[in-house]
Amino acid sequence: MSIPAIEPSHIYKKLSKVLKFSEIIWYLNNVLKIVDMSLHTYRYRYKVLTDPAKHVYVIVFEDESGNVVFVDITSCEDPRPYLEHLALPSTVIEKYYDLWKRARDYVETMSRTIAFKPLKPFDMRDLEIAMAAVKEVFPRFIIKELEPMEMPSEAYDPGRNQYRAEIVLDALEKVKRDISCDFLIGFTSADIYSGNLNFVFSLQNKPIEPSIAVFSTARLHNSFYGAEEVPEVTRERIRKQLLHIVYHHLGLPDCPNSRCVMAYVNSVMDVDSKTMDLCSLCKALLIKNYMYKILVGESRVLGEQYIM
Ligand SMILES: [Zn+2]
Ligand SMILES: [Zn+2]
Repeated sequence: MSIPAIEPSHIYKKLSKVLKFSEIIWYLNNVLKIVDMSLHTYRYRYKVLTDPAKHVYVIVFEDESGNVVFVDITSCEDPRPYLEHLALPSTVIEKYYDLWKRARDYVETMSRTIAFKPLKPFDMRDLEIAMAAVKEVFPRFIIKELEPMEMPSEAYDPGRNQYRAEIVLDALEKVKRDISCDFLIGFTSADIYSGNLNFVFSLQNKPIEPSIAVFSTARLHNSFYGAEEVPEVTRERIRKQLLHIVYHHLGLPDCPNSRCVMAYVNSVMDVDSKTMDLCSLCKALLIKNYMYKILVGESRVLGEQYIM
């Protein structure tokens, strides 16, 4: 007797009972994409356990004989009580707890080299605020402050009095060839735009795990809007938006929680209403990203050997 193939829409229906719509979209886009291929490739049965208040999601995949083939954990705290609640065999619990713990330990101890390339015009105080924010939140990270250079003139649009961020990224790509770093951030107080957007606070070379970004402080200052400067407010805005792109570099997508530092923002008001902190969902996803990296690093290639 064969089990019908599972479609992600079935999981969507289950999740929709406990999650807000925006969270479901986020979850499907960012959490389930890795198991999506398994869903299509294999005929697994699954169990879903959620604790929405704590943003814990556990999905257990079983083969036709009821053997656990893969456990998908989204949790920023010890997932063992949830695995026990699902009555999984103790060997399975230990295996996935160990994997989760290794990923969590990795997130807590990892190091990255972040290089800042000041692009004239830039504000030295703003740059110092940005570098200090990285140092404070990621004390193990190595920060490199590179020699300033001019904004690339070919990126300038005189009609808009703005620089096109894509062209700035091209210039930074050339800079990165000679610099040993994980993430290169071009830092400017010039106003930048991208594609059809009137402006952007920053642009990256990839949405997730970018290696290059351009970051503009122009619209983080009240003076841009003709209002009085409040240094403490500017400082908080720079810190939030800078940490936002560093977390993108570490693998986090934008987050639907407007209080989370990973919230996508359209205005400086949006920046002001979010916090400097990751929400528990994003904390969990950060760990989860590295769980997958550990698995992939152990040659358990997706769709082939996620099976125990
Ligand atoms: Zn973002
Ligand atoms: Zn979040």
